[in-house]
Amino acid sequence: MAANFVITKEISVNGNKITKFRSSKTGLSVVHVDNEGPIVNGYFALATECMPSSVQLSQQTRLKAFDDDGCPHTLEHQMRAIGREHEILDKEYHEAESTAPSPTPLFRHGVLDGLANRALANGTNAWTDVDHTAYTIATAGSEGFLNIMPIYIDHILYPTMTEAAYYTEVHNINGDGENAGVVYCEMQGRENSADSIMDLKRQRIMYPENSGYRYETGGLMSCLRSLEAEKIRQYHRDYYRPDNLCLIVSGRVEHSDLLKALDPVEKRIISKGPLPPMKRPWVDSPQAPLMKETTNTTVTFPSEDEDMGEVAINWFGPPVTDFLSFQALDILETYLTDSAVAVLKKEMVEIEDPYCTSVDFITQQRIRAEIRLAFESVPTEKLEEVEPKFFSILEKIAKDGFDMERMAAVIKREKLKLLDRLETSHMTLAWPCLIHSLYGKKDDSDLADFVDDIHNLDVVANFDNATWVTYLREYFIDAKRATIIGKPSAEHAAKQAEDEEKRIEEQRKSLGEEKLQQLEKELEKHRAQNDIPVPAEIFDNFPIPDVKGIEMIKVITGRGQPDAKFNNEVQKHLDSDHAEVPYFIEFDHIKSEFVELSLFLTTSDLPARLRPYLDIYFDSLYSLPLIDPATGKETPFETVVKLLDQDTVSHECGVGVSAMFRQLALVLLKTERAKYAEGIAWLKKMTWDTRFDADRLKVIATKLLNDIPSQKRDGSRMSRVCMDAISYDGEKSNISSLSILQQSKFLPEVIKKLEKEPETVVKAMNELREILTRPANIHIQVQGDILRQDQPKTAWVKNFGGKKDSSPLAPIPFSSQVWSEAGKAPGKKGYVVNMPSIESSFAAHVARGPTDFLDPDYAALLVLSECLDTLEGPFWKQLRGSGAVYGANLRVDVESGFLSFNIYRSPDALRAFNLANQIIQDYASGKSKFTKQELEGAKASIVYRIVRKEETISDAATEAFINQVLKKVSAEYNKEFLERVQAVTPADLQHAMDKYLIKVFSPDTSNVVVTSASTKVKDISEGFKKIGFQLETKNIDEM
Ligand SMILES: [Zn+2]
Repeated sequence: MAANFVITKEISVNGNKITKFRSSKTGLSVVHVDNEGPIVNGYFALATECMPSSVQLSQQTRLKAFDDDGCPHTLEHQMRAIGREHEILDKEYHEAESTAPSPTPLFRHGVLDGLANRALANGTNAWTDVDHTAYTIATAGSEGFLNIMPIYIDHILYPTMTEAAYYTEVHNINGDGENAGVVYCEMQGRENSADSIMDLKRQRIMYPENSGYRYETGGLMSCLRSLEAEKIRQYHRDYYRPDNLCLIVSGRVEHSDLLKALDPVEKRIISKGPLPPMKRPWVDSPQAPLMKETTNTTVTFPSEDEDMGEVAINWFGPPVTDFLSFQALDILETYLTDSAVAVLKKEMVEIEDPYCTSVDFITQQRIRAEIRLAFESVPTEKLEEVEPKFFSILEKIAKDGFDMERMAAVIKREKLKLLDRLETSHMTLAWPCLIHSLYGKKDDSDLADFVDDIHNLDVVANFDNATWVTYLREYFIDAKRATIIGKPSAEHAAKQAEDEEKRIEEQRKSLGEEKLQQLEKELEKHRAQNDIPVPAEIFDNFPIPDVKGIEMIKVITGRGQPDAKFNNEVQKHLDSDHAEVPYFIEFDHIKSEFVELSLFLTTSDLPARLRPYLDIYFDSLYSLPLIDPATGKETPFETVVKLLDQDTVSHECGVGVSAMFRQLALVLLKTERAKYAEGIAWLKKMTWDTRFDADRLKVIATKLLNDIPSQKRDGSRMSRVCMDAISYDGEKSNISSLSILQQSKFLPEVIKKLEKEPETVVKAMNELREILTRPANIHIQVQGDILRQDQPKTAWVKNFGGKKDSSPLAPIPFSSQVWSEAGKAPGKKGYVVNMPSIESSFAAHVARGPTDFLDPDYAALLVLSECLDTLEGPFWKQLRGSGAVYGANLRVDVESGFLSFNIYRSPDALRAFNLANQIIQDYASGKSKFTKQELEGAKASIVYRIVRKEETISDAATEAFINQVLKKVSAEYNKEFLERVQAVTPADLQHAMDKYLIKVFSPDTSNVVVTSASTKVKDISEGFKKIGFQLETKNIDEM
């Protein structure tokens, strides 16, 4: 069967080979992207349009043609719940059996994700975009990938879509008369956000009724409430066909193995018989005309706080095949917005009285590109001024021309960034292959045009000023546009809550008590079906690959001082450079064209009065004027930003490392390999030679302050923020000092001070820097091709000086060292926070966990958590499956020393907690037990997660440093941890349950924060009181 596949295109991008195959028998296409690293990524993409294409339409006239039912999205979700009634499944299997041997007699709920874990993956995943649906999997090593791929594709093409799957995954009404279901919950959390409201308005303005781009692919709640399961099934028949499916596989896999693994898939497809011809979605559909007129529309979105709104300007871009224009616009957009000196930032953001906190272009490759320019956090009184200001800036450029020197720098940097992305992300090549499968030529002759951007970057590098002005005029100034103004409205929030309450009340009444009881039974029935166990032999017959077969990326570590521990070529090379570096430096060698230079700064010594300044400090760090210490000469900040951009590929800084270690700050800079010394020089200048300019600080502080209201509308974020406020010492912890709860009080004071007595703020910033940059507080990491740097240490001595500092290196601080009293002894503390801007609820339940990465219970606790919250595990089935939540997870965070259970988007966080608690109690008491297969699956999934940390060369180098320096464990830690995970026994799980997990669910040992829509606040807090939790009710502004 592998013979069915012919190569339709082979290309090479910067050394990465891409090969496309298509089956002459079934039309299935496969793209292989050759990529180094231990992870194999699969993206299985289908073009999905929110309307049946005309061929199918004629056969299905009873279906509504165009709509916001969200068929692509509801289908994507249902696919995850396929085959929940196994009589039907077995029938389906036997039918298949009678015509051809089925590759996968495995249609039972939980099977796919259970098997995926055994393939060394973390289950499967999927997303729905406006124009496609993609099913994804990533495995550690290729063996598991090849095992699972045919089964996965079989699930996609030939699922059994049952009423039960529809009921739990899409929409249902529970016994309380509330609408639930996974998709429903998800859209409830999304539909009335500022972004969604503005985006739907845009779609309605830009596209006519016969265009699929006009509709909400996710499904509007009002439509979901009346959507029928049959419509989704029909959608599957119309779109989920082999000739509309493209498998993109990125990673180390042999072509022959890949195609051989598809043999059973091909057989199965052929056994199903021929399909009617299909019109290609999007490509063969009626094309939307360009907008006839320019419009300006205002919409409101729910928000308690009415200070900040949003503005978006929308245009059509070039057709998808006009690659040169697309590239040109991309550069133009970068030129306009990429840094503090880019004209839009300079004139609209980086000013005393800003129009917005950020301005960014978001361009989507559709059949004709969509360009959106988003202005975020716009002060309400300025909402109307944004558009005229923006166009006055463009007109001025059109008249005066571009700064061609900066333009050249932007293009050069974009090229470097592209090369960097090729090293650091699988998606860099996989994504354009996916877009090509939607819009490219069927014969693949244009694949290279979609994938290879480097060539067009060289072309636009030769554009003259007039050409750029032509692009600016044609696509932005003269083109018709749709401007959408999003206005915050407390009234909208109140009305939304009121309307929803009324609707539910009416729904309850019209259903009646009897019907409601019946609905609750129905839900229980479906839930019970979810619990039918999968026969163990299905799992036992699916082998778990040997971890030893996974080829990891090799990192060779050396240190700045001779160190016997590192007996390798890198250390020898370092030792041969005799420069004496008075700092701690770790060199992590990888084969890269770039070097990444990082300073890790310990913040333990900061007094409480200075700590809240950290955000202003890091936000301003790369955009301050520089003073030459020798001459005293000042370089203005605009010049600094420009020069810095010329010498670096990227730079970042801020508090925290890899979402952990929040008591550390990181200053990072990435350059080409050849600019190693320049990179170090910049790091030195930005760390020591900047001048804290009061005007700059005010701009930065204002921006930070203006960003707060939009964060305060985010229920999930606020549940974490409020929990952090409970857990950490408000004076010693960065998390607490920098949380928006403290910053919303601190920033206005700073701004006031900057107006009246700026020198006090400047003094504070200087003190802060003096403490942070003491040699004892600095750990340095260099990652890159160390062996190709002639004198890797000398460059540091030249810039960072050679003087010895007598104070010993400060220890790496853990967040667990800055707990509050309530964090030290969780229990009896908690809030229900009223958030009128949201429609669902979120929760964080937190107890103490292990605080040492070598804690003997850590592996068992991790396996236990994975057993519970794995895809298709108990939480998934009983919480998500019953519509109680969109997501729920357990998190073991050793660095912070907390163990948490988080509820993400739930119609009722109390009900979700009660369900979860019951699950935990049942496992704790031994009433429920994990099977051998569940335990194996959880372990395999953890293997994947550990290997994934080292997916790319730069990930691997970062992990080497985190382990050896921050976590203070050996370079072999991950490998040893894999062994510890393998050794976990059921008795270990019980121990971890009793010692740790059960405490998250007990009022005496856990703290709780629930953020909730106003309508549910009272029920939730009273409900928690009944089960022993004393939760205070607060409004979001009282926190
Ligand atoms: Zn979804």
